[in-house]
Amino acid sequence: MSLTLTVDGPRWRGHLEAVAAAHPGIVPVAKGNGYGFTLGRLARKAQWLADRGHDVRTLAVGTYDELPEVATRWHGDLLVLTPWRPWVPLPEPATGKRVVHTVSRLADLRDLLHADPTARLVLERMTSMRRHGMAARELWEAGELLRKHPGARVEGLALHLPLGQGGHVSEVSRLITDAVGADVPGSGLRTVWVSHLTDAELTSLRGQYADFTFRPRIGTSLWLGDRGALRVTATVLDVHPVDRGDAFGYRSRTAPKPGHVLVVSGGTAHGIGLEAPTGDQSMKARAATLARGGLDAVGFVRSPYSIDGKQRLFAEPPHMQASLLFLPHGSRVPEVGEDVEVRVRYTATTFDRVVIDG
Ligand SMILES: *Cc1c(COP(=O)(O)O)cnc(C)c1O
Repeated sequence: MSLTLTVDGPRWRGHLEAVAAAHPGIVPVAKGNGYGFTLGRLARKAQWLADRGHDVRTLAVGTYDELPEVATRWHGDLLVLTPWRPWVPLPEPATGKRVVHTVSRLADLRDLLHADPTARLVLERMTSMRRHGMAARELWEAGELLRKHPGARVEGLALHLPLGQGGHVSEVSRLITDAVGADVPGSGLRTVWVSHLTDAELTSLRGQYADFTFRPRIGTSLWLGDRGALRVTATVLDVHPVDRGDAFGYRSRTAPKPGHVLVVSGGTAHGIGLEAPTGDQSMKARAATLARGGLDAVGFVRSPYSIDGKQRLFAEPPHMQASLLFLPHGSRVPEVGEDVEVRVRYTATTFDRVVIDG
């Protein structure tokens, strides 16, 4: 009855260990829907990596609201990626001591140090992403402010870089130069927390800045880096034969030709969405498809479900927990209870069950 993520346990854990071993100081990122696995599971897995002797000391979450989900399952430090703002209450002390705040505005630094003069924090520098971060000038002022707050613990410089294979080294070098100029007290900004650098870029930066520590924050390529270890399936819940002209669904559409309406598990509540309509949608193209008897021409839209290796069409937009597919006459008709494959975006899908196989 479920939308299920089945994980090949040994293969997945092998991949996690390989990534952790190749990235000392890695900061696993567990945020949002936990990349499909849930936050709690990722926190336990990060702890497992640390227990196995990997250099994993900090787990990153996206928001302060996510801290309770991970704080009891992971025992190390906790980096919050969303920059702290004055309206965000500080976590209670037991968790608070483990939290490293991201600070991206000078005014917030002032407020945070006022609220907790011993706060642990990273200073975020604006990158070409233009999401959050201080300009070079603000970083200098932050350095000045921090020199007056010896109790604060600056854990490093945070850089959030755009996705993309390569091309970040010169930008990172420039930003590090600004950070050095800021003269933040202590070891200050000599730890650089980065995202989306390739292994080659990390190696190059480590060579160039031998007295710096680079700590890659990694989510997708850690948890989802070996797609072959993951399988997503839905269950066929019902099968109904239809003739041409028979009505079905919430909108009482009629079947354009004989076939079967299939009810499968998974709907909008799971994040199952409409795929792009198939092919070219110009009038001429539609007329040509219609002439060939193609179903997309009558408004059927490609679904993420596939049966016997073929991607199937939605009979109508997905419902909350189930979806209707149209299977034209001539295809093998699956049995009720059979599993069918589903292609999903893991970061946007809520599974009913995550099964770790082995
Ligand atoms: C989400 C996030 C990451 C991890 O991104 P992935 O693409 O999942 O590896 C790293 N840094 C920041 C600031 C993020 O928000």
